[in-house]
Amino acid sequence: MAPWQFPDFDDHEAVHFFADATSGLRAIIAVHSTHLGPAAGGCRFWHYAQDDAAITDALRLSRGMSYKNAMAGLPLGGGKGVILAPADRVKTPALLAAFGRAIESLGGRYVTAEDVGMGEADLVAIGRETRYVSGLPVAGADAAGGDPGPFTADGVFLGVKAAIRRGLGKDDAAGVHVAIQGVGSVGGGLARRLAAQGARLTLADVDAGRAERLAAELGAATVAADAILSIEADVLSPCALGAILTAETIGALRVPVVAGGANNQLATPEDGARLRDRGVLYAPDYVINAGGIINVGLEYLGAGSDEVARRVAAIPERLNAIWDEAEATATPPSAVADRMAQRLIGRG
Ligand code: NAD
Repeated sequence: MAPWQFPDFDDHEAVHFFADATSGLRAIIAVHSTHLGPAAGGCRFWHYAQDDAAITDALRLSRGMSYKNAMAGLPLGGGKGVILAPADRVKTPALLAAFGRAIESLGGRYVTAEDVGMGEADLVAIGRETRYVSGLPVAGADAAGGDPGPFTADGVFLGVKAAIRRGLGKDDAAGVHVAIQGVGSVGGGLARRLAAQGARLTLADVDAGRAERLAAELGAATVAADAILSIEADVLSPCALGAILTAETIGALRVPVVAGGANNQLATPEDGARLRDRGVLYAPDYVINAGGIINVGLEYLGAGSDEVARRVAAIPERLNAIWDEAEATATPPSAVADRMAQRLIGRG
């Protein structure tokens, strides 16, 4: 099937397929849009049972990056790399080098970074073959870059506070009950920031020990991972997996606000309307969780850490603009965010 016959094809500017016989590399780079600048987005290293699933991932994730970068105010378009991992999932230096050469051959139309299965050391290896790479070790004290997790947590924290103000009419998080699903890099960072402001926390993680250790440190409660989506609280903050908001889970929610860092929280676009119909205020995921891409994007563009902080601090403003338009047009915030992003990339 040609790429443009896939349901996730969205007038992508280009979809490149790379093969290198010596290293065994098979990779896809999807360039969704370069309207705002070079198509930036991480590279995933994953073993797919079917090649079609890899193409679908590249198409869907690259469009997501166009929206995320545009809404973060970055002069970057959206793209995504997918390396089809061999069955033994071994990532050799030769394979990374071949992928670096593939990126270089696009002459800067695509800029890569970390994603699932790719770490900083892999990007350093890719960076030996191409300059179109970000997510490298921090270059200096005031430079942008490094682990995106804390920056994502900063932005989600500010976004949760904006949602508390909007949805609960409270000026700070003190005494507000926040239920956090997943306490890894983003959820754990969020929990620490909220605890410092006196929020009441309930934590859940499939790694129950991890949730319990953090709860003991912060004086929080824990519940089983399968219970967190239906507990009574002021805010639910999904910080684990995607596609957790479905007709069924939305029906069982007992919170007035959903605001968290996980990517692709809505299982389908209709779930945005379901949340609205249940009177739940929703913070569109790719807007609230943009702190990490702001950090990585500005690293590539050569900006400093002060600029990262300034742009992360603008996340609440962006959420408020979305909620204002959602109210004024009786449209779910998720659909408003998509519309705003499409306008920004010249497709509105
Ligand atoms: P992480 O791996 O550090 O943490 C995820 C945590 O969720 C882990 O502790 C894991 O055990 C837990 N978890 C997994 N499934 C769960 C379930 N069903 N119920 C409860 N807990 C579960 O990952 P992270 O970097 O914190 O990312 C979390 C989410 O935020 C992901 O969706 C990721 O795509 C998204 N995100 C992360 C960043 C970033 O900068 N790290 C940026 C944007 C979006």
